[in-house]
Amino acid sequence: MWRLLRPDAVTVLNNAMARKSLSRYFAVMQDEKPAKFLIAKKLPADFSKSDPLDVLWKQHEQCADEFRVMEHAIDACKDFREIPAPKKSYFDLKLEIASRIMRGCHFCNRRCSVDRTRSKRGYCGCGYTMTISSIFEHMGEEPELVPSGTIFTMGCTMRCRHCQNWSISQWKEPGAESKPEELAREVTSLRLNGCRNVNLVGGEPTPWLQQWLETFKHISVSVPVVWNSNTYYSPETSKLLAGFADVYLLDFKYGPGDCAERISDAPDYWRVCAYNHLEAKKHGELIIRVLVLPNHLECCTKPTLKWIAENLSVETRVNIMFQYRPEWRAHEIPELHRRLTEDEQKRAIELAKEAGLKNFIT
Ligand code: SF4
Repeated sequence: MWRLLRPDAVTVLNNAMARKSLSRYFAVMQDEKPAKFLIAKKLPADFSKSDPLDVLWKQHEQCADEFRVMEHAIDACKDFREIPAPKKSYFDLKLEIASRIMRGCHFCNRRCSVDRTRSKRGYCGCGYTMTISSIFEHMGEEPELVPSGTIFTMGCTMRCRHCQNWSISQWKEPGAESKPEELAREVTSLRLNGCRNVNLVGGEPTPWLQQWLETFKHISVSVPVVWNSNTYYSPETSKLLAGFADVYLLDFKYGPGDCAERISDAPDYWRVCAYNHLEAKKHGELIIRVLVLPNHLECCTKPTLKWIAENLSVETRVNIMFQYRPEWRAHEIPELHRRLTEDEQKRAIELAKEAGLKNFIT
């Protein structure tokens, strides 16, 4: 399909820094390599539905090692279409484990343990059936992502008082229930219509990981999976994402103090985010979104940018975001009553440079 692209969405194709940090993504986007979930479907896994969860995790660990070897071979030369589909795959194993997690939910750091297969709802308000707010070709994401086939799901695992998508994250609209087969057709159609990727977002995609895996079971077209998350997910979710997510588009907006808990009801945010970013780098490619909040430059923006440079690499793709505006319950947090000043925007750029970051955009 012919469409007008943003000029930076065209020039980014020749941007050496973007290409270096997202090299596999560019190859999958241009159909030169298969998306990770298609490789996971070709890797045999030895498990039975009656196996206890710890046995399934052991098998998953073994498959994760084998996946790296298989992906490397496929990327080097092997045509993945020639590999026969196994009876049970690494991808099927992920889906089985995710189905078990639904019975005592711990997809995110809250670990509510509710049985969502019985439509019980935890903190995020998500039950059993995937509930969608909207599906569209997003032209406002990072240049390398647009047009991005974006699917907004309902519910969220955090409660940012300044949330811009609060009607979705807090279920202030009903959303529309969707079956995996229907959603698979939507994803396929977005890709065939020229979207560079499928962008799983919300609210938050984490509560719906089982339903996302179920959806991708029905997808055979190669499309890069962009996991667009608040990063507040559990180590178990992190393991399931390896071999499923091609690009981790992760928020990192609070520093190690108490800001995350005070503003977003997210205790332990720094530790959880740091861990999930390190794991994302091991298993895929990263774009990090650092939302700059007014009056939070020194306590949040500075340590976050420094941590990224020191622990991931100065070449990490970072989007320093200036679009904060007071929304929803931001009036409850005195320092968040206003937009950023020009000085704060300049200071954030200075901080990125001081940290040594070389691949950031604003
Ligand atoms: S995903 Fe929802 S139900 Fe599950 S642990 Fe997190 S907040 Fe609780």
